[in-house]
Amino acid sequence: MTFREQLCEYGRRAVELGLVIGTSGNLSVRDGDRIAVTPSGVALDKLTPEMCPIVDMAGRLVEGDLRPSSETPMHLAVYESTDAQAVVHTHSVFGTVVATTMTELPPVHYNTLLLGGVVRVAPYATYGTPELAENVRAALEGRRAALMANHGGVTIGATLEEAFEATRVLEWLCEVYVRAASIGKPTVLTDAQLAAVVERTLNPPEFPRA
Ligand SMILES: [Zn+2]
Repeated sequence: MTFREQLCEYGRRAVELGLVIGTSGNLSVRDGDRIAVTPSGVALDKLTPEMCPIVDMAGRLVEGDLRPSSETPMHLAVYESTDAQAVVHTHSVFGTVVATTMTELPPVHYNTLLLGGVVRVAPYATYGTPELAENVRAALEGRRAALMANHGGVTIGATLEEAFEATRVLEWLCEVYVRAASIGKPTVLTDAQLAAVVERTLNPPEFPRA
């Protein structure tokens, strides 16, 4: 699958899973110093490969007829400051609920470690602005995911598949937290409990043989 075909495939999945509605959300994949990104104003399940613009690292259009996503500056800032090869941004419901009420996603489940640790909420700024791009870049430091205040979530990966899976994990963690908070006060894991999970993962017990 070409990178543009991947954008169509994961765009369709994002709509199917309810992670985006209408023309919200955008995806990109990096190929050296070129970025294939979803276009502005087209629903992610209506994309064809030719519709997806290709831009350079300065955000200048290299190929395609449609306008690149308005969040392209944010994608470029992430590529410049991380080892990401793909970026996924959605307005998923539970992620947005947490991003509207908290400054970080409290770690109530050890799966937060799949995202590199406690997920931060980047301070609010107008969509598409360099200020928002900078806030997201800072919130992603050492993480695979960040939330964007009163807006949505963003995840990164070595492939689009990986970045997309991180978006699903982020939304699942946010849903667990929101639902837990609706029936009581969620117990938050301590730093020591999270460190013990890392230790266990790095040093799994011997697999017993008969
Ligand atoms: Zn957005």
